[in-house]
Amino acid sequence: MRTIECDVVVVGAGPGGSMAAKYCAQGGLDTVMIEKKHEIGAPLRCAEGVSKKWLAEVGIEPDPVWIRADMVGAVIKSPSGYAFKLDESKAGSEVGYVLERHLFDKALARDAVKAGARIMMRTYCTDVIREAGKLVGIRAKSMGEPMEIRAKCIVAADGFESQVGRWAGIDTKLALNDLCSCLQYRMVNCDADMEYCEFIIGRSVAPGGYLWIFPKGGGIANVGIGIMGTMAKSGEAKTYLDKFISDDPRFKKSQAVETVGGFVSTCPGLDCAVDDNIILVGDAARIIDPITGGGICHACRTGMYAGQVLTECAKKGDFSKGALMPYEKMWRDRMEDKLYRNWMAKERLAELDDETIDELVRLISTSDIKEVNVYNLLKVIKEKFPKVVEGFEDLI
Ligand SMILES: Cc1cc2nc3c(=O)[nH]c(=O)nc-3n(C[C@H](O)[C@H](O)[C@H](O)COP(=O)(O)OP(=O)(O)OC[C@H]3O[C@@H](n4cnc5c(N)ncnc54)[C@H](O)[C@@H]3O)c2cc1C
Repeated sequence: MRTIECDVVVVGAGPGGSMAAKYCAQGGLDTVMIEKKHEIGAPLRCAEGVSKKWLAEVGIEPDPVWIRADMVGAVIKSPSGYAFKLDESKAGSEVGYVLERHLFDKALARDAVKAGARIMMRTYCTDVIREAGKLVGIRAKSMGEPMEIRAKCIVAADGFESQVGRWAGIDTKLALNDLCSCLQYRMVNCDADMEYCEFIIGRSVAPGGYLWIFPKGGGIANVGIGIMGTMAKSGEAKTYLDKFISDDPRFKKSQAVETVGGFVSTCPGLDCAVDDNIILVGDAARIIDPITGGGICHACRTGMYAGQVLTECAKKGDFSKGALMPYEKMWRDRMEDKLYRNWMAKERLAELDDETIDELVRLISTSDIKEVNVYNLLKVIKEKFPKVVEGFEDLI
């Protein structure tokens, strides 16, 4: 059987995998990244919205190649149509670009290659390899041919459906209320405002989640919905989304040219995302914003942290759980409080009826919030509706 030896094998060439591969290769590690699909970034499973601020943090230069639309702001709407419009001066880090995600993912993979990583396409990880109890690599099928990739450490960057972590013995199970099922149409010929991203919340609109319109310019928009696993039956996302589109005059003359389905986890991350000779990044580590379902920036950050920590591990020749723990510290220091707070907020918002959501949106639309983000919104909500934030006031 064909065998490859390397320092690090990265499973999955999404943003998390490519960033990990880039930073490992930059650190001088012999890095192999495998991807099961035949094209990086396709088929699309994303609404393609990202904020702008984090890009510099992870060393990504904004590039018109993958920026499809530059947003002026965002609108949050309640079921009865109360609206809170945020322009760029107030929107802070919560709005930014709508991407061409398939080009963004390819650009990150290119950067990994430039740094020296090898990529193997249509190569599917089928299991991990253990010898004398120690993880020593993965088994894969590359273009149908079985093979082994032996490595000192595995980076599991295999996204929401991640199996690599589970095969390695890490508990990646999700509770049903920490899972959102999503459906999105790429609508063309829309009569929608093309400068603002729109978020519509409320139990009757999107139970336990929200509906979004992310414009891509030229009358094109990603129109989608995410609903909480415990609050809707299978297939109901489509019913809610179709009703919204047929009731909204902006879509009267438009048609869907692409459908996107998928799941996002909405928990505050795994209890521990490392073990001996393995690190989990991005969606595989369940590190994704529980309230927005935005995970591109989290995947990039955790991929970068993994690469930086593995570079240090290589210097000491130690890839044990203890040696990988700085990765845990890095992502927790940077994101844990916010993930936990947003997870609690998500749980509470899901319990609210439409009337209360109307009240909340009305309240924030009349409040003088300097920079609008989840943190500041919760601060305002706390004053008027203390029950909504009960139990996690200390994080606000
Ligand atoms: C409908 C929807 C809309 C979303 N909208 C947004 C948004 O607007 N903004 C935002 O920030 N986030 C959004 N997200 C979340 C975002 O897409 C993810 O958080 C992000 O892609 C995570 O990156 P990742 O690298 O961890 O995983 P992924 O991007 O999922 O990449 C994982 C890669 O691993 C590969 N892989 C999986 N298993 C194997 C295997 N066994 N062997 C080899 N390769 C394998 C996959 O093919 C894939 O390429 C959305 C998600 C969904 C479902």
